[in-house]
Amino acid sequence: EQEELDEDDDDLEIRPPVVTVMGHVDHGKTRLLDAIRNTTVIEGEAGGITQHIGAYQIWTEHEGHDRAITFIDTPGHEAFTAMRARGADVTDIAILVVAADDGIMPQTVEALNHAQAANVPIVVAVNKVDKPEANPAKVRQQLTEYGLVAEEYGGEVMFVDVSARQGTGIQDLLDAVLLTADAGLDLRANPNKEARGIAIEAKLDKGRGSVATVLVQGGTLRVGDPIVAGTAYGRVRAMIDEHGERVEEAAPSRPVQVQGLNSVPRAGDLFLVPEDDRTARQIAEKREAVERNAALAKARKRMSLEDFTKALEEGKVESLNLIIKGDVSGAVEALEESLLKIEVDDSVQLRIIHRGVGAVTESDINLATIDNAIVIGFNVRPDAKAREAAAREGVDIRFYNVIYSAIDDVEASLKGMLKPEYEEAQAGLAEIREVFRSSKFGNIAGVLVKSGTITRNAKARIIREGVVVADGLAIESLRRFKDDVTEVKTDFEAGIGLGKFNDIQIGDEIETIEMVEKPRD
Ligand code: GDP
Repeated sequence: EQEELDEDDDDLEIRPPVVTVMGHVDHGKTRLLDAIRNTTVIEGEAGGITQHIGAYQIWTEHEGHDRAITFIDTPGHEAFTAMRARGADVTDIAILVVAADDGIMPQTVEALNHAQAANVPIVVAVNKVDKPEANPAKVRQQLTEYGLVAEEYGGEVMFVDVSARQGTGIQDLLDAVLLTADAGLDLRANPNKEARGIAIEAKLDKGRGSVATVLVQGGTLRVGDPIVAGTAYGRVRAMIDEHGERVEEAAPSRPVQVQGLNSVPRAGDLFLVPEDDRTARQIAEKREAVERNAALAKARKRMSLEDFTKALEEGKVESLNLIIKGDVSGAVEALEESLLKIEVDDSVQLRIIHRGVGAVTESDINLATIDNAIVIGFNVRPDAKAREAAAREGVDIRFYNVIYSAIDDVEASLKGMLKPEYEEAQAGLAEIREVFRSSKFGNIAGVLVKSGTITRNAKARIIREGVVVADGLAIESLRRFKDDVTEVKTDFEAGIGLGKFNDIQIGDEIETIEMVEKPRD
């Protein structure tokens, strides 16, 4: 797979730099990414709605030339590092955002360490200079201690004062990125060959199936190409850019959302275009076998079967087997990585026997049954068959919407300290059969209650194809025919209003939640 061919220098053309925005929480990473997207005029954008596909490309005039820059649209160093851990180097330049009123904070240092470890040059965006208490000089001063010396101070790092809120300094920042790229980086690629690159975000989409945003690193990706991304394969059925518009081809550094893969690749998976469909499948299958073996070898290395059995007989060992399912690949990656970092003594082991994107399925439960595993669902739910199978087999499925809670629970259980607590339980589940528009109440969901009881004012969430698409809602109105009611039981129809929340579709499920004491075991 290491098919990084020696390129003939003549074949190489300049490609845009790929930039990741990092920095401390609340220092303005998200706002800056929005400001950059908004201040640059994109040709032919008329009508195009900006979509979050995980990355976007902008055009800007720099020293008399039109130049493109690609931005990874997931701020922070976590995704950056998770991808690097998988061998995927996506970023050419890091923008380190530091709020001028706050100065250097712990995650500022963490972010710059991560960028430096990856040998990625840094441009510092000193943000929030519109604030009266802003002190951009102090930021420059502070960063000197970390080896980031501003040009004004005789160093080599470009610092740019910006206000993401007011949109000032953005052009200077883009210029600094391009100057940094041109000064020290040889950003070239051969566009005239089969594409290869990296999947940076992927999910299952209702209707479109697996959609994966890929960043082309070499070659040109075209609609109709056979493709392998990680262990997913297929043919590029359609490509969409960050404006939701269809594109026919994508050159180096261009991010596009690809449809047509047979499953959901993971963030950081390498993709390539093989010569034909058969080769695509073969490569995917080979990768899958390699992964399986690697996982097995890893599990064996932690403790051999003999060691394990012996320790088990002596009552010394408890193995905790986990299956992780999540709504997006990045979350699954992050959760898995954090879980594997939990430090426990040798008498306990943690094995992640399967992970994936999407609803918890019957096959997950089957696997959990065989391997006596616990299923962790992050922002996902089981489908009907899985729910049935889990109840039948007594498989523990635990749902989380905060990564840290999942890690805390696993850590506590590994240390034998998991205290009975209150946990969320499903109070009722209703399927949306119709959607009525009411100018006064917003959208009303015409539902059939499928299990439990739906009560007015209950906490609710929306599940679309097994994935939680909205949470923290409340059943603000509950009606049967024209009457307000306080509860509706299984097999009855009802009209549900979720207040201002309007994004409901036929086929969605509304799940309501109650807090119950976790059973002691
Ligand atoms: P992130 O956590 O780094 O992604 O930070 P956000 O982009 O979410 O911004 C955090 C807060 O700072 C939000 O309330 C923003 O509106 C605010 N903010 C971001 N940039 C600026 C700025 O340039 N000036 C001011 N005054 N506020 C800003």
